[in-house]
Amino acid sequence: MSSQKKPVGVVPLGKVSEIALKVIAANISGYFNLSVQILPPLEQPEYALDERRFQYDAGIILKAFESMRFKDYEKVVGVLNPDLFVPIFTHVFGEAKQGGKFALVSLFRLGKNPDGSPSPSSLIFERAAKVALHELGHLFNLLHCQEKRCLMHFSGDIQDLDETPIYLCRYCSTFLKDRLLSQSE
Ligand SMILES: [Zn+2]
Ligand SMILES: [Zn+2]
Repeated sequence: MSSQKKPVGVVPLGKVSEIALKVIAANISGYFNLSVQILPPLEQPEYALDERRFQYDAGIILKAFESMRFKDYEKVVGVLNPDLFVPIFTHVFGEAKQGGKFALVSLFRLGKNPDGSPSPSSLIFERAAKVALHELGHLFNLLHCQEKRCLMHFSGDIQDLDETPIYLCRYCSTFLKDRLLSQSE
């Protein structure tokens, strides 16, 4: 057993924009100071498609991840194009189990502005990075934060997401640092 921390894996589920994956990976290493690897793609998770909603059930995908193990990775963030839902919401940008190992990011709703106009790709990638960091925050046990100027503030729609900064508030940032330090001991 080594005390060397395992990297975070970013895994595309289906044919996902390579730039999006690279931007997500770069932001995880930049903001959370973790080593990151982009993994070979897995199939798009058709097993999780809900045919009535025509969306993919995030819980089913996260459950499937459990059986895949990914033992060489500390945390794994799956990135996919289709729309995700959890039963209590019409849609989610991403999903993660609090304190768990696996998170998901959907690019589906990130391409349009609140008024429905198409967004420039730089903004789409920034949104994808925010969702990925937010979900990864949950994996490191960060809860939703009341502070609007914090990455862990809950975003229900694209306007919320655009108003949410990519950085953590002081409280969340301290909490995360403590977490990361205690895990590497
Ligand atoms: Zn959240
Ligand atoms: Zn916060």
